[in-house]
Amino acid sequence: MDAKPALAIHGGEKVRTEPMKTSGPRFDEQELKELKEALDQQTLFYWFGEKVKTFRRQFAAMYGVKHCHMVTSGTAALHVATASVGVGPGDEVITTPITDQGTIIAILAQGGVPIFADLDPHNYAVTAKSIEKCITKKTKAVIVVHLAGSPADMDPILRLAKRRKIKVIEDCAQSYLCWYKGRLAGTMGDIGCFSLNDFKHISAGDAGMVLTNDDELAGRAQLFLDKGYARDGSGRRPPFLAPNYRPSELHAAVAIAQLRKLPGIVAQRNRLGDRLTASIKDVPGIFPHKVLPGCKGSYWFYLGRMDPKRLKVSRDDFVKAVAAEGVPVSGGYIGKMVYEYPVLMEHRAFENCSYPWDGVYGRKVKYGPGLCPVAEAIEATSWRAPINENMSEKDVDDIAAAIRKVACWHERNG
Ligand SMILES: *Cc1c(COP(=O)(O)O)cnc(C)c1O
Repeated sequence: MDAKPALAIHGGEKVRTEPMKTSGPRFDEQELKELKEALDQQTLFYWFGEKVKTFRRQFAAMYGVKHCHMVTSGTAALHVATASVGVGPGDEVITTPITDQGTIIAILAQGGVPIFADLDPHNYAVTAKSIEKCITKKTKAVIVVHLAGSPADMDPILRLAKRRKIKVIEDCAQSYLCWYKGRLAGTMGDIGCFSLNDFKHISAGDAGMVLTNDDELAGRAQLFLDKGYARDGSGRRPPFLAPNYRPSELHAAVAIAQLRKLPGIVAQRNRLGDRLTASIKDVPGIFPHKVLPGCKGSYWFYLGRMDPKRLKVSRDDFVKAVAAEGVPVSGGYIGKMVYEYPVLMEHRAFENCSYPWDGVYGRKVKYGPGLCPVAEAIEATSWRAPINENMSEKDVDDIAAAIRKVACWHERNG
């Protein structure tokens, strides 16, 4: 491109003038039909009705996994996972500083201590190298978050975990039907966790899933999600205090209809996300959202980065200029590292004490800025664009054109 169009932020013509629709209707007669059937059962209890059972069977089949449990949220799924693999007071669980709070809640709720590993600079997940640096005698598990629909580099992580005898939990709340070298994200570790909250690829309002091939873990998960009741007739007694994370038949009814739509949703997001990558990969100072070789992402959103030095502009000014071109691009993802939240920085998970960082734990863990420099750089230099199945190729092309226009202008004139 040799033309140098004036930036919209300076009064030039916008790349795009009409508004961009980045969402659309998600629910229709399919959900309604399932809901009606659920109500007609005259019970909404998950163990008496057919909807939760059906959904569990269908999700397990879609993933080719032996056991699927349905629970009330993604956070609940992760909590079931930490409890099932045996995380208890004083155990360390390694995870990422860029994630939803649910990941951390699942650790702290078991009295576990979150330890933060740094990230791959372009696919935004923890790596075997960064995890290894965090392993101590107290390490029980790692929660790998496949962020924004981009699979983490699992093979080295799985090898490390096996060698060091730590459990692997996959947080797939943002990564439905993501492929890693022929395997689905959520099927490679000991347990995979999913969310059906209203912002994910598919929604049941709120709910979550736990996947595992391990009979023992599946049994513990069943007890843990249901107040310790062994409803399978096994007579098992819970080895722990268990909350109530039971889903209702209504949630499963909606989830069954949503699951039918999932492959189409993911295929369109995959097409659009890959298209955006292809259109910006040669833009100076711009780094696309990296999907590792041999992998397939499902783009919960699109998280790219920019190089403020090369473009001679701050991330915030860059993002403002791109947005002024008429496309929905914003800065960063969560704003702060998880370890900068007061709950962690001030060791205040519970009132009037510093549990679990005291007592049985005994090691001094400090949280605060500087802990994971790569993750902090990701948050500071990333830009985010929506990817949604209701968007068109034209929408994505306009986003790419705006990014190209602003980046090229700044590279020359910044
Ligand atoms: C959404 C999300 C969760 C929590 O799911 P909820 O259903 O909101 O509890 C956990 N981890 C990640 C990475 C998420 O995106």
